[in-house]
Amino acid sequence: MEIKLFNTMGRQKQVFEPIIPGEVKLYACGPTVYDYAHIGHFFAYVFVDTLVRMLKYNGLKVTHVMNITDVGHLTDDADEGEDKIERKAETEKKSVWEISEYYTKDFFDAMEKLNVEKPDIVCKATDHIEDMINLVKKIEENGYTYKTSDGIYFDTSKLQDYGKLAGLNIEGLKEGARVEKNPEKKNHTDFALWKFSPKDKKRQMEWKSPFGKGFPGWHIECSAMSMRYLGETFDIHTGGIDHIPVHHTNEIAQSEAATGKNFVSYWVHNNFITTNGEKMSKSKGNFYAMKDIEENKIDPLAIRYLFLTANYRTQLNFTWESAESAENTLNTLREHMRLLQEPDNRQSSFEKIEEYKQKFLGFINDDLNTPEALSLMWKLIREEKEISSKDKYELILDFDRVFGLKLNEIRIEEKIPEKIQKLIVDREEARENKNYEKADKIRDKIKEMGYDLQDAKDRVKVRKV
Ligand SMILES: [Zn+2]
Repeated sequence: MEIKLFNTMGRQKQVFEPIIPGEVKLYACGPTVYDYAHIGHFFAYVFVDTLVRMLKYNGLKVTHVMNITDVGHLTDDADEGEDKIERKAETEKKSVWEISEYYTKDFFDAMEKLNVEKPDIVCKATDHIEDMINLVKKIEENGYTYKTSDGIYFDTSKLQDYGKLAGLNIEGLKEGARVEKNPEKKNHTDFALWKFSPKDKKRQMEWKSPFGKGFPGWHIECSAMSMRYLGETFDIHTGGIDHIPVHHTNEIAQSEAATGKNFVSYWVHNNFITTNGEKMSKSKGNFYAMKDIEENKIDPLAIRYLFLTANYRTQLNFTWESAESAENTLNTLREHMRLLQEPDNRQSSFEKIEEYKQKFLGFINDDLNTPEALSLMWKLIREEKEISSKDKYELILDFDRVFGLKLNEIRIEEKIPEKIQKLIVDREEARENKNYEKADKIRDKIKEMGYDLQDAKDRVKVRKV
């Protein structure tokens, strides 16, 4: 069945066709590791994880690469301000390496709790400085750069289609540009590929390069690492919608200026999450990390469930009430998964099972419509009469390959149904009366009901088949 994804490049749902049939090369913009991972990250990476799971569910082989930004991301997201990690190291009186290691661990701990599968390749920016220098050299050779007193810049006016991802009106941008902080920049949209170390301050992280001692710009990191592991053109690039106008626009510009080839086929962006109806910010105190989730006694998997009830392209408003309600629903689902493991006598309709499978695939392949896929699961649980408990259980476990709610860990309690218990007593009586024929018949009946009996020395062992 075909997969459709909303491609920001072109602003429409498109049929997904990988460059190499059967294989998907996907790059996810990773976190800048200078602070605790928060609910906005959780939303973004549960989305990426669900996307990867959906692709795999379709039988595609996925190479999932994610970067860790541990240098070069400046406080104003452009080319001004301080390096976020250097600044944090200064305030915490730690080395930049300690900072990035600590928050990288925090990020992956949180991801594990959300059952987000680790990408196939996790690459740190500081491990790929040479790749970045080589890429800047290539862009320089192709004539797209110029040097200022603080770095090597990309001349966006040299690229015909600069801003195509965001649909930027470059002329309009030029006219409306606020007073440029950096008067040496030729165009408002120009950005740094390599920044020189400041003369008045010693940076903890800096590298020698043919351009001068310094550090890479944030954007060049993603271009260099994605192309290193996935090639000059690859299938999917993800990130938050906030990356569209600058970070991803600049990734495209510098990559295509370097290679002359199309950089990425599908740009897939997740929307923002707000908390309590407001944009998250530290000053408002609505900036929730995993420890806040746990302090509020919310199961992290309930957060995952909550995210699945929204489409990744719509803005999700997180409240503690919505988290609690998602947890209640998840617990009800778990209870159903327990109940469904108790056998019933219903015969399944093969056509019905197929119908559910196809519908499920239809929903998830339609730009990851997880809300509809969840509704389908609830319809199966609550309304479907033509499918047995066992087959419902199996179907839901199959759906959970995409949902990632760990439903396979829900085990039936070792409680033997009353009916079976009564039959066991009857059989014991028959055996005591040496009526072995009757005893065997009862044993067969119990077997038909899904339980196996084993006569031990002084008691009968019962096991669910
Ligand atoms: Zn990136």
